[in-house]
Amino acid sequence: MNCNLCNFKCNVNRNERLGACGIDNSIYICHYGLHKGEEPFLTGKQGSGTIFFAGCTLRCIFCQNYQISRWNLKNQCISVKKLDIQGLEKIFWELKKIGAANINLVSPTPYVYSIIEAVNIARKKGFDLPIVYNTHGYDSIETVTLLNGIVDIYLPDLKYGDDAIGEKFSKARGIYSHGKKIIKAMYDQVGLLQKDENDIARKGIAIRHLVIPGHIESSLQVLDFIESVDREIQISLMSQYHPAGDAMEEKYPELKRTLSYEEYNKVVDYAYALGFKNLLIQEMESHRHYLPDFNREGVFEE
Ligand code: SF4
Repeated sequence: MNCNLCNFKCNVNRNERLGACGIDNSIYICHYGLHKGEEPFLTGKQGSGTIFFAGCTLRCIFCQNYQISRWNLKNQCISVKKLDIQGLEKIFWELKKIGAANINLVSPTPYVYSIIEAVNIARKKGFDLPIVYNTHGYDSIETVTLLNGIVDIYLPDLKYGDDAIGEKFSKARGIYSHGKKIIKAMYDQVGLLQKDENDIARKGIAIRHLVIPGHIESSLQVLDFIESVDREIQISLMSQYHPAGDAMEEKYPELKRTLSYEEYNKVVDYAYALGFKNLLIQEMESHRHYLPDFNREGVFEE
């Protein structure tokens, strides 16, 4: 009724009008299925049961899911499905049946109320897979409170170590300052990542950080912050940046290339020097494997 699910805090009734994300009161998804390209602690043998919601509250100029994050603005994804809460719950079971290690909700923020209802319905019927909240990290603090007892694993991005860079590249104010509060709230709620005997995550927080070409100092700042919370936190330090979307424009020259070895190594070395123990690093060629096409049947095939 009064949507404040993310830090844009539009306070609009989405039954009647749209907020900054432009998403009404329905559930829209672009794709779901088993995804083996997530972190090993999420994929297991069969894959993570990933549900890609349509739209996003951020407007990152280099978004690699551009086709679906801008779906309601540019309608680039042809396969959007409109669902009700029962339809979403049905997908949870479908993914479990084909061997998903978890339910991985990608860009879930505008859909949180529906997600809570769907998870509650499924849990009452005995649904036991962990629920992963795979978010840009610009959720409101109230949203994290609402998700207490619903979400098992938080997978937030901490994209920038500088609010000005965040505003320039993601069109959101205070994204670093706010991200720090959100990560602390998530960490306080679920704690460090816990894994089962097969090394599959069951509960806790893991933070993703994409290293952006030309902005290494911002990455070091991010690591300093995480270290101040807990150096045992699981971090996924991603090298997969690939120019996409508006990042191809002339006004962002540093974003028109992939990351260099030197840049990534500097960040990785810094992380080790800070004493992080649970650090996932990527191959430098990984950007070739993670470019999705949501209009193709095998979304993540090369
Ligand atoms: S999800 Fe965020 S952007 Fe969308 S209406 Fe709610 S507060 Fe606004």
